[in-house]
Amino acid sequence: MLLRLHFTAKRGKFERQSAARQSKAGVINCDLGMSKPFDIGLDRLTGQTSYSEAFPIGAAGQRGTFFLETFGCQMNDHDSEKVAGLLLSRGYQQVETPEAASLILYNTCSIREKAAQKVFSRLGEYREKQSEGKVIGVLGCVAQQEGEDIFKRAPWVSLVCGSASYSKLPEMLARLEAGNQRVTGLDTDTDETFETPVTRRDNPWRAYLTIIEGCDKACSYCVVPFTRGPERSRASDSILKEVRQLAELGYSEVQLLGQTVNSYADPTARRMRFSELLLAVADVAGIRRVRFTTSHPSDFTPDIMEAIERQPRICDHVHLPVQSGSTRVLRAMQRTYSREEYLEKIAMIRGAKRPISITTDIIVGFPGETESEFEETLSLLDEVQYDSMFSFKYSPRPNTPSLSMSDSISEEEKSRRLAILQDRQREIQAANNVHFVGDKFEVLVSGKSRRENQWTGYTGSHRMINFASQERELLGTYVQVQVTGATPNGLVGEQVA
Ligand code: SAM
Ligand code: SF4
Repeated sequence: MLLRLHFTAKRGKFERQSAARQSKAGVINCDLGMSKPFDIGLDRLTGQTSYSEAFPIGAAGQRGTFFLETFGCQMNDHDSEKVAGLLLSRGYQQVETPEAASLILYNTCSIREKAAQKVFSRLGEYREKQSEGKVIGVLGCVAQQEGEDIFKRAPWVSLVCGSASYSKLPEMLARLEAGNQRVTGLDTDTDETFETPVTRRDNPWRAYLTIIEGCDKACSYCVVPFTRGPERSRASDSILKEVRQLAELGYSEVQLLGQTVNSYADPTARRMRFSELLLAVADVAGIRRVRFTTSHPSDFTPDIMEAIERQPRICDHVHLPVQSGSTRVLRAMQRTYSREEYLEKIAMIRGAKRPISITTDIIVGFPGETESEFEETLSLLDEVQYDSMFSFKYSPRPNTPSLSMSDSISEEEKSRRLAILQDRQREIQAANNVHFVGDKFEVLVSGKSRRENQWTGYTGSHRMINFASQERELLGTYVQVQVTGATPNGLVGEQVA
């Protein structure tokens, strides 16, 4: 059974959009993107060895069709892969447009206000769909945060389910099928992790795997502990079993996910540490790259660095969000480390025998952040020389402790700080990327350009590289690429033997 997959899967689309945006800003001039769909066996995408094993209860479409749109982080992307697998295994068929679907689902993000607003405006667009007999559901963080209020704000919604209740989705769907008008799943007091027999993976080479759900940290600005519930780690034997299955199916890269992935605490008697788990995943035959995100600085212990040093299949990239360069602001954020303690972690990573790429997240305009505290963040960028950065304007979120602090910094000032921060980081990346010209990297090829003989992929250190090759089919393969040029956002090169 072959499924025609347009590589407009969310991530592919995102990569193209960001390339286009960067090109507009004059930063990158490569117009990369998949020019044509390609065919992949459905069994590979579902992570099952055969179609009948994946869908034992009957033909696809038996129960109707579903459209699933995802907003937010990689964990949301992966939750959607599991929700899609769950629905496929119950006889639903996935379709590419809401118009073609009987069930329309939005997996949502509420990390910043803008993200939540986007969800409600998208829901508004589908108001009239309910009258056409379609069932509309909201999943994820906005569902958890707004709860039954969603029914008041968008009465055409029938299903509201937070991520901590996904294991109840089959039961909720059954109630809808039985004629219930409204169903909710909003518990967070669960110790369950969301494991599904079938996962419909979007990417045929790199598999996401959530190893820890929820969060027990209490950063004062963050909704995640409220929307995703308390920290729950998945059993190490179950994780390793899935990695072995993935390797047998041809996946060569796995990315272990968690809001604080390195706080992993194996619930089994084996009590595997996160570093041991990394090594065990890298030992699975067929796995060539192990990634993990996001690491919390306070739990980034020397044994994790030792594992990275010992095992080259564990990627040379650590995403270590700092949020601010000011110890005073970090304390107000309840980040549990000071600037100096964070810099000790950076020194540990920089001390490794092989160079490790370091990336981060930063928030500007946290309540009370003074100009000189903001400058401490700029000086931290200079000191650490990050390879890349995600940066955000502080956004007050419901239930969070920082909501009661006066959000005294105007939007205009937050925008000014953000622009200065991003300019500084762009300069750092522009200067540093030039040093890679002439170097050779192993690249996992993930995209083909519309332009003849142009491809794109990622190095182990997660640097994007656009490169030329005369080969006809490279998707999903590992090739050697020599860097011939650099932009602030990536590298340019050509395939070499
Ligand atoms: N767990 C990760 C950590 O500890 O860094 C981050 C998870 S969060 C989904 C991703 C990023 O969103 C955070 O690192 C932070 O920079 C940003 N973020 C979270 N809450 C925010 C808020 N209220 N306003 C602005 N940015 C926020
Ligand atoms: Fe949010 Fe902090 Fe938990 Fe990250 S560690 S998810 S920022 S509360």
